[in-house]
Amino acid sequence: MNPNKTRLRFAPSPTGPLHMGGVRTALYSFLYARKHGGDFILRIEDTDQTRFVPGAEEYIAEALKWAGIVVDESPEAGGPHAPYRQSERKPIYGKYAMQMVESGHAYYAFDTAEELEAARKKAGMNKETFSYGPATRMEMNNSLALPESITETWLTDGMPYVIRLRVPENEKIEFTDLIRGDLSFESVLVDDKVLLKSDGMPTYHLAHIVDDVLMEITHAVRGEEWLPSAPAHILIYKYLGWHARMPQYAHLPLLLKPDGHGKLSKRDGDKLGFPVFPLEWKDPQSGEVSTGYREKGYYPEAFVNMLAFLGWNPGTEQEIFSMEDLIANFSFEHVHKAGARFDHEKAIWYNEQWLHRKPAAILAHSLKAQLQEAGLWKALYDDAFVQQCAELLQPRVQFENQMLDTGSYLFTAPTTWDDAIISKKWKPGIEKFFDAVAEIMKKTDNLDGTMAEEIFKQLAAEHNYKPGEVLQLMRVMVSGQSSGVDLFPMMALLGGAEVGKRTQLALQHISKTTNK
Ligand code: GLU
Repeated sequence: MNPNKTRLRFAPSPTGPLHMGGVRTALYSFLYARKHGGDFILRIEDTDQTRFVPGAEEYIAEALKWAGIVVDESPEAGGPHAPYRQSERKPIYGKYAMQMVESGHAYYAFDTAEELEAARKKAGMNKETFSYGPATRMEMNNSLALPESITETWLTDGMPYVIRLRVPENEKIEFTDLIRGDLSFESVLVDDKVLLKSDGMPTYHLAHIVDDVLMEITHAVRGEEWLPSAPAHILIYKYLGWHARMPQYAHLPLLLKPDGHGKLSKRDGDKLGFPVFPLEWKDPQSGEVSTGYREKGYYPEAFVNMLAFLGWNPGTEQEIFSMEDLIANFSFEHVHKAGARFDHEKAIWYNEQWLHRKPAAILAHSLKAQLQEAGLWKALYDDAFVQQCAELLQPRVQFENQMLDTGSYLFTAPTTWDDAIISKKWKPGIEKFFDAVAEIMKKTDNLDGTMAEEIFKQLAAEHNYKPGEVLQLMRVMVSGQSSGVDLFPMMALLGGAEVGKRTQLALQHISKTTNK
């Protein structure tokens, strides 16, 4: 493999549905890889089998596919570094943990869960938090504190053990983060992390490093919750002799709640009515269903565009970016250090913008399906009619699935009318004008928008009304509503006979409800 090739991975744990923050991590990695002609890899980090959730891995793969984030190597697609599921790579990791034991940078620890709990309790009583490290390790049951002969006996007897990283006492640990720049940590703040668990499975700390090196990863993008562990990771690279092969880390800021206070959670979505997951998810245990962007009717382009801007900006005023545009413009220099506040209105705005840019034929296709599903499809409708409806509705909706509701009057005559507008605009004797409109419309075949406008304006002039006095009334009479799609094209679409019929129906309603 080309040693200079840019390679990034997305390494989720299959513990549930992928949060939109996770999709953003995948997106930034994908954009960077593509921009630099590199590879994008999906690796499933399933070493913690107690947290495994059935269906989660499939969900992750489908969510990436829906978003247009294409993986080059994955459990599904395979690749030169297969397997891409850590549980299937179990035999690989032990030797690296042992290498660190042999060089004195890791050790065996035999502490039971109860012993660890007791240590935590003891520290808690002194209002301290227990940290397994240089200050405490000599009081614990491990190969550094115990006589060598005991360690050997316990190992031979098959006593369960973990392997822990031996963190040095007073060392400065430094590295450069692609987003946060030069960082420096004191080793005293780092604990002796478990590298290999008693079941022989590696922890994340060891597994991701071994895999990133073996899979020739050049940049590791992950959430900032991993920043406190980064110094331990730098030490592991050093102790395994891999400092030069260490990928560049980029720790992404959090996605924040709409009010800017705290991490965006599933509960915020439930409470405030927006999805936090790309796709719908049904919890296999509780059966609880959480909605997704896809099911809400978002276009993947809009979802990706919105997500890219949660924490990044191009440095220009441009806001609408296709995946190709994002690839061309993405860089870590323009990723913000501060958390990104989620804005539901803005998410809707992105969808609206993408909807306005779609060919009307796409919307027409969806509208036809909506009509059929609602049992509103009529024999006299044809594709040209649906296409014209879609064109009229396009500037007025934010989602395709709003078309039928927003434009209901294009398909069914109103049975209620905006009476407030009628009372406001009605004038004694004005019904004569609308009677005349109805009569002429009923006799006009092949009405088009220009004709509708001419007939209407001419009749208004003949009856001494300015168009402004009668336009909104006409709209209410034809559609029931005070605003909506352009009036004359709407009348043309409905046809003269229908407009005439609706006008007369409205006049009957008005004569019944008003004394004018
Ligand atoms: N499995 C880790 C997680 O889901 C991956 C972090 C990383 O990308 O290194 O948070």
